[in-house]
Amino acid sequence: MNANTQISQRPKANGAKVSSVKTAITVSYGDGIGPEIMEATLRILDAAGAQLDIDTIEVGEKVYTSGVTTGISNTAWDTVRKNKIFFKGPITTPQGGGYKSLNVTLRKTLGLYANVRPCNSYYPFVDTRHPDMDVVIIRENEEDLYAGIEHRQTDEVVQCLKLITRPGCERIIRYAFEYAKNQGRKKVTCMTKDNIMKQTDGLFHQVFREIAPQYPDIQSEHLIVDIGTALVADSPERFDVVVMPNLYGDIVSDVTSQISGSVGLGGSANIGTSCSMFEAIHGSAPDIAGKDIANPSGLIQAAVMMLNHIGQFEVAETVQNAWLRTLEQGIHTGDIYRKSQSKKRVGTREFADAIIANLGVQPQFMSPANFEGFQAITLPEYTRRTASKKELKGVDVFVDWRGKDPDDLAAKLQVIENPALKLSMITNRGVKVWPNGFDETFCTDHWRCRFSAPKDLWVRKEDIIEVLQKAAISNVDIIKTENLYEFDGVRGYSLGQGQ
Ligand code: NAD
Repeated sequence: MNANTQISQRPKANGAKVSSVKTAITVSYGDGIGPEIMEATLRILDAAGAQLDIDTIEVGEKVYTSGVTTGISNTAWDTVRKNKIFFKGPITTPQGGGYKSLNVTLRKTLGLYANVRPCNSYYPFVDTRHPDMDVVIIRENEEDLYAGIEHRQTDEVVQCLKLITRPGCERIIRYAFEYAKNQGRKKVTCMTKDNIMKQTDGLFHQVFREIAPQYPDIQSEHLIVDIGTALVADSPERFDVVVMPNLYGDIVSDVTSQISGSVGLGGSANIGTSCSMFEAIHGSAPDIAGKDIANPSGLIQAAVMMLNHIGQFEVAETVQNAWLRTLEQGIHTGDIYRKSQSKKRVGTREFADAIIANLGVQPQFMSPANFEGFQAITLPEYTRRTASKKELKGVDVFVDWRGKDPDDLAAKLQVIENPALKLSMITNRGVKVWPNGFDETFCTDHWRCRFSAPKDLWVRKEDIIEVLQKAAISNVDIIKTENLYEFDGVRGYSLGQGQ
């Protein structure tokens, strides 16, 4: 249970067993459809007797356009940090203008490392081609390409840094197994692209291999993410818990949510060590904003996850059962309304009214919710391993050069070599073009020039500095460097394509 609680005298409502403990939460209504679906959801929570002490903040579009490029003011930050639990409506990130995504900022600044997205089908009440799906996507939430470290390096080339860390991998992969154990699930699937990204995705997969045997009762498997995504889209019922780096998780969780019936059905929890944030999977849907037609289900599902997180299991069950019963009754918003299955097409408000009328009622066809035994997951603190023996073996020097023939560039660079660092390879977009490149390889103005130590020699930082100094004198336009290391004798950098 969250520590941020206080005793309340609130009476029971609509048959829900009401705990006497009130939890302080922060709420933001958000943009687009946010205010409509938040208002509907809070009405349901109130009627169900959720014990919440709500502080409301403004984040998103209005804050951005008032000149705060982060989308959140300092006082709003204080409230979020004080209450620790944040229930957030979807927001709109204005295009261009240097605005940073508030969602990414919140997840990273608050250390919300795990993004949990359950995707179920509610067949035959909600139409789907996948009647038996019950998948939980657990997405790493802070790292990967979402570190947001991007640079334009030459006229023709921009770069985004993909950062994967051992603590990040250990935390999310252990979280996925603990989640599976906690919820009585049978299998954890890991998806990466480590056949291509051997260092970054390779580390994620390696940590999965290390942690999986510690959970012998849970089956584990690894799939390359392209075929993995295809299988999720084709036969989601073969999956149970799926753990992934940030970008793949973002994409696959939208796929899973959409094929369950509507992107409007999915909720998500963003879990950190001290704070957590609950929101719908979907965005602010400006195309349908203000029309009272949005499906509030995604936010309702997020609310149910939040209630479980703060220990209000009975209220969570009451809301979930009333929501399931409403779906069974065929009372549907436009996105899931189908003439064949639905009885009544309703707007956001009427859908919420129907759920409130069903509070205390169990679903008659789908299994009623049972959250007894759910526990907050606490992970062991990360323990740093003994440092590996790290040896400098060379340097990749990235050069902006508008020439055509890599032999000409090599001739320029051989002048700046020293005894410890000899030019060993030039690549363009990762493909080896020198020595012995192919005429067919298309080249941009961005060249990676590898200087390596001759066999048995070792490299000092001073050797690299000397190369860089000579390069400056020779008018070689260096845009960045990457040191090449071996860790305990294992190469810590990729080879060139074709090397
Ligand atoms: P979106 O999820 O807002 O909408 C995609 C489609 O799904 C639209 O056709 C929309 O009408 C429909 N849809 C979404 N939610 C629905 C609901 N509850 N009921 C019925 N239909 C629903 O995605 P988008 O259009 O790509 O993004 C719109 C804005 O939302 C962008 O500014 C984006 O940055 C933002 N966004 C915010 C979040 C967040 O706050 N967590 C997440 C994703 C996108």
